[in-house]
Amino acid sequence: MGEELTEPGGGVRLYVEAALAAGAHLTPDNGQAHYLLHVMRAKAGDRLNLFNGRDGEWRARIAEVSKRSCVLECEAQISEQREAPDIWLVFAPIKKTPADYLTQKATELGVGVLQPVFTRRTIVNRVNIERMRINAIEAAEQSGRVSVPETREAVKFEKLLTQWPAERRILFCDEAGEAQPVADALRGAPEGAWAIFTGPEGGFDPSERGALRALPNVTPVSLGKRILRADTAALAALAVWQAIRGDW
Ligand code: SAH
Repeated sequence: MGEELTEPGGGVRLYVEAALAAGAHLTPDNGQAHYLLHVMRAKAGDRLNLFNGRDGEWRARIAEVSKRSCVLECEAQISEQREAPDIWLVFAPIKKTPADYLTQKATELGVGVLQPVFTRRTIVNRVNIERMRINAIEAAEQSGRVSVPETREAVKFEKLLTQWPAERRILFCDEAGEAQPVADALRGAPEGAWAIFTGPEGGFDPSERGALRALPNVTPVSLGKRILRADTAALAALAVWQAIRGDW
């Protein structure tokens, strides 16, 4: 009759790009087919869940199996597409922590967009966006999200600010200047679209801090008395934002 495919953390969920609708047939990509057939040892009739970021979450059945691939058939929608909180993370990539870790954790915390930014003191000069995307998909599958955060190409700080969408508020994590505690600042701040900004190992340089503080929709905040590593700062700010302005 077929079984429910499960992992230690729960049922198997896969992100796919194809449209999901009752009766739709789709072919997983090679990596997913390998995972289903050879890691999970799936058989025809086994069941799993699918999402694509647009059509909610669907129950699916493995309809056909061949040596290298399989066909999945959508049976029924089990949840509608949920609107995700509108929060971006703009971060200077740092050396020791591969962007992998930050991508996975920020995805679990519900980030909408991951935007790497090269600042003056950024040491890393390349970001592997394809790899970030793979990590984001995996974390979305495991965390029960019905969307995958968008992973954007890295841009230079100046360019990012020039093109900044005026209505999106900035939560500027600034350890170096006068700034309100993050929770106080967010409680009093307007609703709507936000982006968290965190700097590299050496912090934002004075000209960058000045440029950020000069923007109209910027809230400089402190994350406490200790200096956090950039990845810790990003995740801490995201957690506080989710609790006060997001969907926690
Ligand atoms: N300038 C510091 C370290 C930067 S920490 C130094 O060289 O000693 C890296 C980034 O994390 C900072 O740019 C900031 O965005 C964020 N950050 C770290 N600790 C913070 C804190 N206590 N409050 C606000 N932001 C912090």
